[in-house]
Amino acid sequence: MKKRGFNLSWGGSAVRKSQSAKSVEISRAVCLTPFHYGVAYLIKRVYRKLNLAGLAVGAVIPDIEAPIAIAYLIWIRGISLQSVLTEINPRTFYVLHVPLYGIPLATGLGVLAVVAVYRPVVMRMLRMKAVPEELTLSPNLVVSVFVGVVSHLLVDALHHSYNPLLKPFYTGSVDVLVLFGNQPLADLIVQTVCAALTIAVVVMELLKGREGLRRLALGW
Ligand SMILES: [Zn+2]
Repeated sequence: MKKRGFNLSWGGSAVRKSQSAKSVEISRAVCLTPFHYGVAYLIKRVYRKLNLAGLAVGAVIPDIEAPIAIAYLIWIRGISLQSVLTEINPRTFYVLHVPLYGIPLATGLGVLAVVAVYRPVVMRMLRMKAVPEELTLSPNLVVSVFVGVVSHLLVDALHHSYNPLLKPFYTGSVDVLVLFGNQPLADLIVQTVCAALTIAVVVMELLKGREGLRRLALGW
């Protein structure tokens, strides 16, 4: 079902894509989410006092709204999946990707996710009986989730086709951070670098065995 007189179109940038290219972009964007972990790990390498669990969860939590936005469009707005994949950009409905209110909101959600989800999963995975210090609520955890969220929004702004950086004051896409001003090229570069970085650190740590798994989940 098409909605008329309602600005749901893609991007707003000069880039005009074919429908199949738009579909590919959605699937790519979804695929990138776990690869934000590599950036979180890198930040931990540089700022060792930060909490890797917080950084990692903060670096992926904003994308929790991607399936929610798509479900909202299909089930609440009654728009077909076909239209969602080809004509409508779910990103125009994003909240957590809007810096002004998305950063504090995603930080709060991220802290909650560390304590309520990440903690039991990691403790079970690492067969821990006592709650490790890294997974207890602390100012450092909150700051680390915050930094992770900011890193996510920054990485996205380097290559996304729709960047609501100035919402709610300006609803168009602010593409000043898109690499080389060339969104498809930026997309390719950022996805490749983030994927290579994440795969490299995960493999490097897992080669250390159980200790590597602990380092990946909780840091060092
Ligand atoms: Zn994102």
